[in-house]
Amino acid sequence: MHQTSEIVFFGSEMVPYCKTGGLADVIGALPIELARLGSKVTVMLPYYREVMEWTEKTGVEINPIEDSTLPFFLPGYTGQAFLRELIHESGMRVVFIDYPPAYDREELYTEGGADYEDNATRFGIFAKAGLEACKKLGIKPDIIHAHDWQAACAIIFLKTHYRSDQFFAGTKSALTIHNLGYQGRFPADKFPALDLPWSLFSVDGLEYFGQVNILKGGIQFADRITTVSPTYSKEIQTPEFGAGLDGVLQAKADKLSGILNGVDYSAWDPSIDKLIPQNFSPDTLAGKWACRKALRKEVGLPEGKGPLIGMISRLAEQKGFELLLETLDRIVKLDCQIVILGTGDPRYHQLLTEAATKYPKNVSVNLGFSNELAHKIEAGADIFLMPSRYEPCGLNQMYSLRYGTVPIVSSTGGLKDTVDNVTPARLKSANATGFVMKEFTGNSLFNTVKKAAKMFRDEPSAWHNLMVTGMKKDFSWLSQAKIYLKLYDSLIKERNISVEEITA
Ligand code: ADP
Repeated sequence: MHQTSEIVFFGSEMVPYCKTGGLADVIGALPIELARLGSKVTVMLPYYREVMEWTEKTGVEINPIEDSTLPFFLPGYTGQAFLRELIHESGMRVVFIDYPPAYDREELYTEGGADYEDNATRFGIFAKAGLEACKKLGIKPDIIHAHDWQAACAIIFLKTHYRSDQFFAGTKSALTIHNLGYQGRFPADKFPALDLPWSLFSVDGLEYFGQVNILKGGIQFADRITTVSPTYSKEIQTPEFGAGLDGVLQAKADKLSGILNGVDYSAWDPSIDKLIPQNFSPDTLAGKWACRKALRKEVGLPEGKGPLIGMISRLAEQKGFELLLETLDRIVKLDCQIVILGTGDPRYHQLLTEAATKYPKNVSVNLGFSNELAHKIEAGADIFLMPSRYEPCGLNQMYSLRYGTVPIVSSTGGLKDTVDNVTPARLKSANATGFVMKEFTGNSLFNTVKKAAKMFRDEPSAWHNLMVTGMKKDFSWLSQAKIYLKLYDSLIKERNISVEEITA
């Protein structure tokens, strides 16, 4: 890869400015790693109210760029957008699209459990503004790397509105699917908001059973498609995991690969984490027990001999809460305690609150979004539970490994790729790092928790080995960023290299 290659990311959330899930962690880490490796990297991000609140909280100013009013036009766009920017110490540039009618809102995508009605317009404008920003700022991208449906319009527009624009003549595109469960589907009457010819409202374009499907459009137009783990890249080509797009993805199989996400260990490492009561490492585990004690106190759970199980999650059907609710009575009888941090579907808010009321000594439910409590749970829990129905990559299980918090996961996607299931042979060779459920059923969840709780209580030295093996695993971004560089390089050289070649 040419050291000076120009890479432009389009992402709809990014730590530390705004976050609803793992996408924000990726956009907050991968571009920095690429910049450190010598690429010129810009990230396009909407200037949400949450970003404004971040500037107020931190005192960091995100200054407007002079003369940056954008000349673009899309239906539904009224008023004017302009640009702001921050330069990270790595050299990465974050360009914010300041357009209050679309982004000065309570939440990023939804309010009160319902999507904003004009999301197609909001993210169409984001893409168009980001492409115009490239022109305005003289950033001629070699690669446009768009993430999820909210950014997919950048690729669609590149190949339509800007098809004949010489400025983007050398630009190649990559689309990363972080979660196929969110596709940006809208009624057909939203199609004009994207200002595309109706000929694209077709089976080879953005149409999907009479609706607009923005992610599908991105898949059709991208030069390369990636997902965030190798297993998930295979799974999404099957009807069970394809969320209706398995056929479309199969047709693009030669362009599709899976690259595992990394972990930002400057934020998620118990030996330096400033958000936890006491730091610790494999050699100084006393700190972990102090974190556990403090966590129990903070979330209102009494001291106990059984394991403390942590969960940090969007409260969405994907994350397997049905299985937990189905088996909670039995899990509680195993003398386990569970601390849950999450926000999302109001139905789970209610059901989990009821469970906490029923089992005040065993279940603590913390509804809301708190990065600080998330760190404290990672540090203080003995076990981390992630029984997802599907999981494109999953970050929390990787964080848990580093914090000595043994993961219990379902056998899917990135969970399968990152957790080495306990077997007698793996335990003996010190290669086991967690427990993988056999099936996605309540019984399997219960049996796996039972097995883990038994080992926790009866085999302290095996448990200790399990923790330490996990803590020493390395999922840092550096190696993953190098894989992305190879992929960009192949695109620039117009060579569609195989998945095996990229990861070799
Ligand atoms: P997903 O992207 O599907 O939400 P991941 O496991 O990949 O799942 O990433 C979730 C990220 O969001 C993690 O960094 C996790 O700590 C964080 N997170 C999720 N819910 C909350 C919450 N309620 N409070 C704080 N952090 C949360």
